[in-house]
Parts: sequence; structure tokens; C-alpha cells
Amino acid sequence: MTAKNTLQTLIDQTKETAVLQSIEELLNWDQRTQMPAKAANYRAEQITLLSGMIHQRTVDPRRGQYLTELAEEVSSQSDHDGDVIVLRLLKQYEKEKKIPLRLVEEFSKARVMAHQAWVDARKANRFSDFAPHLETIVKLLREKTDAIGFQESAYDVLLDDYEPNTKSSDVASVFSALKADLVPLISEIGESSCRPDSSIIRRPFPIADQQTFGTSAAKAIGFDFEAGRLDITHHPFCCTVGPKDCRITTRYDKNYFNSAFFGILHEAGHGLYEQGLRADQFGLPTGEYCSLGIHESQSRLWENMVGRSKSFWKHFFPLAQNSFPQALANVPLDHFFGAVNDVKPSLIRVEADEATYSLHVIIRFELEQALFTGDLQVNDLPAAWNQKYQQALGIHPDSDSNGVLQDVHWSEGLFGYFPTYALGNLYAAQFFDSAANAIGDLDLQIAKGEFVPLLNWLRSNVHQKGKPLSASDILQSATGESLSHQPMMTYLREKYAEIYSL
Ligand code: ZN
Repeated sequence: MTAKNTLQTLIDQTKETAVLQSIEELLNWDQRTQMPAKAANYRAEQITLLSGMIHQRTVDPRRGQYLTELAEEVSSQSDHDGDVIVLRLLKQYEKEKKIPLRLVEEFSKARVMAHQAWVDARKANRFSDFAPHLETIVKLLREKTDAIGFQESAYDVLLDDYEPNTKSSDVASVFSALKADLVPLISEIGESSCRPDSSIIRRPFPIADQQTFGTSAAKAIGFDFEAGRLDITHHPFCCTVGPKDCRITTRYDKNYFNSAFFGILHEAGHGLYEQGLRADQFGLPTGEYCSLGIHESQSRLWENMVGRSKSFWKHFFPLAQNSFPQALANVPLDHFFGAVNDVKPSLIRVEADEATYSLHVIIRFELEQALFTGDLQVNDLPAAWNQKYQQALGIHPDSDSNGVLQDVHWSEGLFGYFPTYALGNLYAAQFFDSAANAIGDLDLQIAKGEFVPLLNWLRSNVHQKGKPLSASDILQSATGESLSHQPMMTYLREKYAEIYSL
């Protein structure tokens, strides 16, 4: 076979595997939005069979042979589509072939069972019901990191699945710089005598109206509802079932505006990234998102830098007043702007404000690291969790459900995932600065409800880039800078200086 034919065969096989993966995605989406609880066992069988098939195709030795042959001709600096595809797939192949099929299947089954156990344990507020499942997950992940091998720490192997080529020691040092600046800012805010009236957003907001208003905002920023949909779930997420099929989800609280509205903007931000990827490259690294940190940067940018800005509400507040006359008719814009940006240490990560959010993430990162170094045992997690909340945020969880059981991630085996949330915040601030410099009067455009120039900048500088070797490649090419917590801190300081008269 000529190199050209080999590459084409490889691309065809990879795209076919992507079809199987997209079916698995659909089953996962269904499990989390529609599936009756009693269907969990059979769903586990469906997903186990599919992931086994996908794994077998991915580690097929013929595929390895093609990749190795092709890689000999490729320069690691090249950004040619074919070369990027070969290099990324080779890295993935070499990693996956080290994981035995037995482990893949056991893990896949364990996470489906653990997910249902987590749902039940959270409802019953009993961590001990979930602990044995979590122990299995951690044990299987340890086997995985041992099978793959590592230099500095096992946690690096886990992190690599979500933030490729990023070291946990680097993440730890950026996080500690961030924490060192965030903690004094949060206490300054806490001591300010200016307090927004946050009761404004805790008035009655009828769910049907929230649904309509949230959908219209997602549409306004560019989410394509003919290539996507919005559904209800416990723990909101975004998933892609195909090149023109992006599913976002949210949850509604009839007495709390922020939860669904900013949740929708957040997931729509993820969706815009997915919808902005190169559809003709679906299933290939050239049509795939770069890393979860970069993914999260897109959601946080739309949710916070756009959605929680004064400019955004200059345009949307009159529309919100029409949609929710009972709650907002007599509220001035400034009061509403303050209310949606209120900073207050709280127990639940997904409802945390922008300033305290990263501290929630840093706590999880520290606990995960301790679990994988062996410094912490699963049974001691609730106590360690509560202690860290007390130290970092000055509050103590009132229950496991509002503490250690609040997130879905560990039940799905997603260790190494949390740090990408805080990295996303940092990347988002860096992208937003660069976009504003390139576009000109971004604030004015947002205030007019014009989002196309910003979306176009993100499309060409982030979305269309696919999956280069690491997030820092995209960051560097889009902003000319490497990772820094400074733009994020400058952005937060400016915003809160206005609201809290700092
Ligand atoms: Zn997100």
C-alpha cells in the first residue's frame, strides 16, 4: 500500500470507530436524561459491549502498524491535517494498547453501576452506600495508571486523558498562585459594606418562562437548535452524538434564576465549541476539541465574561423583565447585575459564583491527588472534604449530599477531570482579552446583542484548530501568551471593584 492509501484506510477505520462511539454517547445521554432507573443493568451490558468493540478496534495491531509506518514520515512540528491525525492517533494508540481488554470492560461496567449507586446514595444522603463502588473505581484506575506507566505521578496519567501533555505539578503551581490571590479578594469582598440584594434572583421564576428565556439567549449567542437540543437532567452536561447533533442539558429551580439560566449559557458555550469544530473531520483529531480545559474555557467565557457582564444585561434585562414581570418589573438594571454577580462562599460547586468557584475545584484536585498517592482512603473522604471546605471557604457541609456526594464525576470514573474546570477559567480570561483587543469595542457589541464577531474570533482561533498536541499550543497561537492566572484576577478585580466598591 502507498502511504496515501494507508492514510486513507486509517482515516476510514477511525471514522467508523467514531460512529460506534457516537452510539455509546447517545446511550449515555439517554441514561442521564430519559432512562428509567430499572434499566441500569441492561444499559450496563449495552455500553460494556460497545466499549469493548471500540477498544478492540482502537488497539487493532494492524492499525498500530499503519500508524507506525506513517509516523516515520511525519514531522512533529507539522500542522498538515494528515500529519496531525497520524501523530495524535499514534499517541492514543500507544496509550490504549497498554490497557488490557479485561480492565476496559470491568471499568466500563463498574462506572455504570457506580453511577446508579451514586444517584441512590445522594438521594439517601449516605456516602457509605457509594463508598464500595468508589473504591472499585479507584482500584481499577490505579491498575490503569500502572499499566500505562508514568514518570512523576500516577495522577499525570489520569490528567493526560483530559488535558493532554499537562503535568499535575504545573497545575499545582498555577493553582497555588491562583489561590493565593483569590483568598484575599474573597475576604475583601466579604468585608465590604456594599452588598447586592441577592433575594432578587430568588423570587418566583416560572419554569416554562425560564425555559423560553434561556433557549432564546442560547439562540442569540449562536447555538444552533437545528443541530442540537436542550433537555433536563440532574447534573447538567453537553455531549455530541454526531457532527450536527449536540445535546445540552440543564436543571430548573422555580425560585432561583441563576441555576438554569447561567447553566444554559454555560452548556451552550460548550455546544458552540462542538458546533464550531470542523464537521467534515468528525471523529478525527482534526475535528476534535483540544482538551477539556479549552472546552471549559468556552463555556465559562459565555457564561461569565459575556453572560454576567453589565453589557450583556443592557441588552437582555428589558427582555428578562418582559419574561418575568412578577419578579423583575421594578428592579433597576444595576441591582440585577449585582445580584447575578453576588459573591458568597457556598457548598455547591455548580452554583458557586465566579470568585469562589476555582477554590471548589482546587479542593477536589487536592483530594484526588491524595487518593492516588495513597495519603487518603476512600472511607476518609467525607471528613477530608468537610475539613478542606472549612479551611478554604469557611463553611462546613451540612450533609454528604451537599458535600462529597454532590458531583457526578467520581461515579463515572472521571478522576483528573476537575482541574480542567479551573484551567478553563484561566484560559477563558486570556482568550477574552485577546478577542477584545482584536475585535475593538466588544462591550458595545455585546450591549447591542451582537455576538457574531466574538463567536467568529473563537471559531477561527480556537474551534477550527482541532486537537493540536496540547492546550498551551492553542493558547500560545491565539493569545501569544502562556498560561497565567493574571488576566483572570484582573478581570475579577475590575468587576468586583464596581459592585463592592473595593
Ligand atoms: Zn462545563
